[in-house]
Amino acid sequence: DITVKKDRWVTDLYTVDTILGKGKFGEVKKCRERRTGRHLAAKFIEVGGIQDRKDILNEVDIMKSLQHPRLLQLYDAFENRDSFCLVMELVNGGELFERVINDDFILTEKACVMFMRQICDGVAFMHSQNILHLDMKPENILCLTREGNRIKIIDFGLARKYNPKDDLRVLFGTPEFVAPEVVNFDPISPSTDLWSIGVICYVLLSGLSPFMGESEQETLSNVTFATWDFSAEEFNSISNEAKDFISKLLLKDPRKRMSASSCLDHQWLRRSVKREGNNTPERSLSKKRLRKFVYRRKWQKAINAMLALRRMGVTLS
Ligand code: ATP
Repeated sequence: DITVKKDRWVTDLYTVDTILGKGKFGEVKKCRERRTGRHLAAKFIEVGGIQDRKDILNEVDIMKSLQHPRLLQLYDAFENRDSFCLVMELVNGGELFERVINDDFILTEKACVMFMRQICDGVAFMHSQNILHLDMKPENILCLTREGNRIKIIDFGLARKYNPKDDLRVLFGTPEFVAPEVVNFDPISPSTDLWSIGVICYVLLSGLSPFMGESEQETLSNVTFATWDFSAEEFNSISNEAKDFISKLLLKDPRKRMSASSCLDHQWLRRSVKREGNNTPERSLSKKRLRKFVYRRKWQKAINAMLALRRMGVTLS
């Protein structure tokens, strides 16, 4: 069992190495446990500002309860006067969408099925433990290795325990992926993650973001209207089963959406299992739009980081 260590700091037991990524709340660095030589990832989170101690302890608590191969595992945790360090398993393959847009990756519906199935598998386990992720987006789906096709869901910083008897509402998320009930401040449920999975699937297949507007406000308003379609030509070559899958997730009424476990029973996700042995080559999907999507999100992340700094500057002055 992992307990948050207060009498020692990460550097007492691990050698901290190069940076792997930056998030809203701090940096993630490569590290190595001296005792075992094991390679891991250390996420440094400063207390104060936007995240307080309670939120970080919530993330630790949730990660501890989620032991599943598709969910990022916590290995160790430290706390000192003004920060936390979460030592987690190392995921080496980079973001899923970055891998997919790489020239050496052939993007087919079958490949999308393979990824969506793993995402649903991880989320189904989370929901079986009564935990909601609440920040499902492409940046939080990493590839385990550079070559393989296994994925991991990361970032439980916004995850919440869910009790069906209690009314849970939140006001956060990423506009393009957030469900209408969040925007409307209505009660949320496991279905809230399934909306986001629907958006991820829509983007993966087409490179198009179904609710994206000219501004954040416009995006949120598009989400609350929950109107979208498959009219773009990118969908001409997409199968009806795939469209049916998305249609059963992007429903305004959360009660009508498929659950993560029913997704796994959907004919589209069962497909490549069923058609094993069929050697007709699959048609590869265009990556042009998906590349644009990935570059745009990168820019946005950089701009958001800059705005956050500026906001801090304003409050400091
Ligand atoms: P966000 O701003 O995305 O909410 P955050 O502060 O909650 O970020 P994470 O999303 O957990 O932080 O991590 C930030 C980045 O660090 C990730 O996008 C990813 O690129 C990288 N990263 C996180 N965890 C790992 C890991 N275990 N192995 C490798 N890279 C990781």
